[in-house]
Amino acid sequence: MESNSYHQIGQSANASIDIELDVLQVGSEPVGIRCPHCQEDVMTRATYKNTRITHIVAIILGVLFWWLCCCFAPYLVNRWKNVEHYCPKCRKFLGVYTRKSII
Ligand SMILES: [Zn+2]
Repeated sequence: MESNSYHQIGQSANASIDIELDVLQVGSEPVGIRCPHCQEDVMTRATYKNTRITHIVAIILGVLFWWLCCCFAPYLVNRWKNVEHYCPKCRKFLGVYTRKSII
Protein backbone atom coordinates (compact mmCIF):
# COMPACT_ATOMS: atom_id res chain seq x y z
CA MET A 1 0.00 0.00 0.00
CA GLU A 2 2.58 2.57 1.08
CA SER A 3 5.00 1.67 -1.67
CA ASN A 4 5.41 5.29 -2.81
CA SER A 5 7.48 6.21 0.20
CA TYR A 6 9.80 3.30 -0.34
CA HIS A 7 12.30 5.19 -2.47
CA GLN A 8 12.82 8.19 -0.29
CA ILE A 9 16.49 8.58 0.36
CA GLY A 10 17.90 10.83 3.04
CA GLN A 11 19.70 13.74 1.42
CA SER A 12 17.93 13.96 -1.94
CA ALA A 13 15.96 17.10 -1.06
CA ASN A 14 18.97 19.17 -0.11
CA ALA A 15 20.40 20.26 -3.45
CA SER A 16 21.53 23.74 -2.51
CA ILE A 17 24.97 24.87 -3.58
CA ASP A 18 27.16 26.65 -1.11
CA ILE A 19 29.32 29.41 -2.52
CA GLU A 20 31.87 31.13 -0.36
CA LEU A 21 33.37 34.37 -1.52
CA ASP A 22 37.01 33.65 -0.85
CA VAL A 23 36.99 30.07 -2.03
CA LEU A 24 37.42 29.30 -5.68
CA GLN A 25 35.10 26.96 -7.49
CA VAL A 26 37.17 23.92 -8.15
CA GLY A 27 36.52 20.38 -9.23
CA SER A 28 37.91 17.08 -8.14
CA GLU A 29 40.96 17.34 -10.39
CA PRO A 30 43.87 19.80 -10.34
CA VAL A 31 43.04 22.90 -12.36
CA GLY A 32 45.15 25.61 -13.96
CA ILE A 33 44.28 28.97 -12.42
CA ARG A 34 45.86 32.28 -11.47
CA CYS A 35 46.61 32.17 -7.78
CA PRO A 36 44.93 35.15 -6.09
CA HIS A 37 47.68 35.23 -3.46
CA CYS A 38 50.88 35.21 -5.49
CA GLN A 39 49.37 36.10 -8.91
CA GLU A 40 51.11 33.21 -10.60
CA ASP A 41 49.53 30.97 -13.21
CA VAL A 42 49.70 27.61 -11.52
CA MET A 43 48.27 24.13 -11.59
CA THR A 44 46.63 23.58 -8.23
CA ARG A 45 47.95 20.90 -5.95
CA ALA A 46 45.01 18.69 -5.01
CA THR A 47 45.02 16.81 -1.74
CA TYR A 48 42.36 14.30 -0.87
CA LYS A 49 40.71 14.34 2.51
CA ASN A 50 38.59 11.70 4.13
CA THR A 51 35.04 12.88 4.71
CA ARG A 52 31.92 11.70 6.44
CA ILE A 53 31.00 9.99 3.17
CA THR A 54 34.28 8.11 3.26
CA HIS A 55 33.41 6.74 6.67
CA ILE A 56 29.80 5.96 5.69
CA VAL A 57 30.95 4.03 2.64
CA ALA A 58 33.50 2.23 4.78
CA ILE A 59 30.79 1.17 7.20
CA ILE A 60 28.44 0.07 4.41
CA LEU A 61 31.14 -1.94 2.69
CA GLY A 62 32.25 -3.29 6.02
CA VAL A 63 28.75 -4.62 6.68
CA LEU A 64 28.12 -5.96 3.17
CA PHE A 65 31.55 -7.29 2.31
CA TRP A 66 33.09 -7.98 5.66
CA TRP A 67 34.26 -11.38 4.47
CA LEU A 68 36.37 -9.71 1.82
CA CYS A 69 38.06 -7.46 4.35
CA CYS A 70 37.63 -4.55 1.95
CA CYS A 71 36.15 -2.08 4.39
CA PHE A 72 39.35 -0.09 4.15
CA ALA A 73 38.78 0.41 0.41
CA PRO A 74 37.01 3.82 0.68
CA TYR A 75 40.10 5.26 2.30
CA LEU A 76 42.01 4.39 -0.85
CA VAL A 77 39.40 5.62 -3.34
CA ASN A 78 39.56 9.32 -4.03
CA ARG A 79 36.01 9.31 -5.40
CA TRP A 80 34.68 9.47 -1.87
CA LYS A 81 36.98 12.16 -0.58
CA ASN A 82 36.93 15.92 -0.49
CA VAL A 83 39.58 17.58 -2.59
CA GLU A 84 41.47 20.55 -1.21
CA HIS A 85 43.40 22.70 -3.68
CA TYR A 86 46.56 24.53 -2.74
CA CYS A 87 48.87 26.82 -4.68
CA PRO A 88 52.12 24.93 -5.40
CA LYS A 89 54.12 28.19 -5.29
CA CYS A 90 52.90 30.01 -2.19
CA ARG A 91 51.20 26.97 -0.65
CA LYS A 92 48.10 28.95 0.20
CA PHE A 93 44.69 27.30 0.33
CA LEU A 94 42.72 28.05 -2.84
CA GLY A 95 39.50 26.08 -2.68
CA VAL A 96 37.83 22.83 -1.87
CA TYR A 97 35.69 20.44 -3.84
CA THR A 98 33.12 18.87 -1.57
CA ARG A 99 31.52 15.53 -2.29
CA LYS A 100 27.75 15.85 -2.42
CA SER A 101 26.95 12.20 -2.88
CA ILE A 102 28.51 8.77 -2.89
CA ILE A 103 28.23 8.29 -6.64
ZN1 LIG B 1 50.07 31.22 -4.93
